[in-house]
Amino acid sequence: MRQNGLDELRRQVDGLNNQILNLINERTSVVQEIGRVKEKQGVNRYDPIREREMLNALVQSNKGPIPNGILEQIFKGIFMSALEIQEDEQRNALLVSRKRKPEDTIVNVNGEEIGNGSPTFVFGPCAVESYEQVLAVAQSIKAKGLTMLRGGAYKPRTSPYDFQGLGLEGLKILKRVSDETGLSIVTEIITPSHLEEALDYIDVIQIGARNMQNFELLKEAGMANKPVLLKRGLAATIDEFIHAAEYIISKGNSQIMLCERGIRTYERATRNTLDISAVPILKQETHLPVFVDVTHSTGRKDLLLPTAKAAIAVGADGVMAEVHPDPAVALSDAAQQMDIKQFDEFYAELQRFMNTHQTI
Ligand code: PEP
Ligand code: MN
Repeated sequence: MRQNGLDELRRQVDGLNNQILNLINERTSVVQEIGRVKEKQGVNRYDPIREREMLNALVQSNKGPIPNGILEQIFKGIFMSALEIQEDEQRNALLVSRKRKPEDTIVNVNGEEIGNGSPTFVFGPCAVESYEQVLAVAQSIKAKGLTMLRGGAYKPRTSPYDFQGLGLEGLKILKRVSDETGLSIVTEIITPSHLEEALDYIDVIQIGARNMQNFELLKEAGMANKPVLLKRGLAATIDEFIHAAEYIISKGNSQIMLCERGIRTYERATRNTLDISAVPILKQETHLPVFVDVTHSTGRKDLLLPTAKAAIAVGADGVMAEVHPDPAVALSDAAQQMDIKQFDEFYAELQRFMNTHQTI
């Protein structure tokens, strides 16, 4: 008899659980609808004043036995979960999201297919200094059977008194070397006003760490008919990085490569802290190819090889590193660029690694 009474009470609880479940789902659907209306109006989804009003009204109507404190906790949980569901939906709806497009995007730079499973390498000097300097590095790249050359004509420097790059003259040098060697040019553009003119000289628009949230530049690059290599900001979260890429793709350009280049932390042993886990996260969250820049992330020549191996092992689609014929006299990043001999050794060792190890 007592057992039967307990069974009946349990059945009642099961029934109530089901009712609560249905109501929570119904409520979530209504909140999602509100979210869509707010999105159209451009209004922020989270409204703390409305949340407080709802909690106050619930407390007022509460006839017990549940204490008000616990009631508030339960409803805050319900409010929070509805918001989280909407945030997930928003993230999944991004054009760069893998949820939206499950297949990998392959970026094609003059026939080099980036993101097709075998890593792409982007090497070259930090800054374009002279035709001879760029050519020396380009010849070494070409001799390795590689196709891409980097070099900055516009250099965003910490100090306004440091070398700012050769500008248009630098782009012309890159173009000349490209014409002579067949290598594709990756170079940084720092302002929308340079972009159109630069497009005649380059193959990939690099957007640097300092400009990751230069939204006008992102939008312009999104309207350009050239692939974009977007570097992660110095202190940008992965979410901010993904949204920066969304600015580009939202304007129609889906030929985007992401580049992890280290973030600013308290650690001083390296120039920045290479966030190696960003690579698999970005590959999970987006369909875009992901590079690792081992030069700017470490700032140390002795770490270029181990971090490049790590990048490849963790599934990066490409590696970027700086090479200069005579780093001691380089006008920027003198301490961390490889000379040609070091470059040869670095690349040979990396190839050995790739031939003997599987990526994840
Ligand atoms: C660069 O690659 O030339 C450069 C300036 O790097 P970052 O924007 O990552 O600092
Ligand atoms: Mn540099």
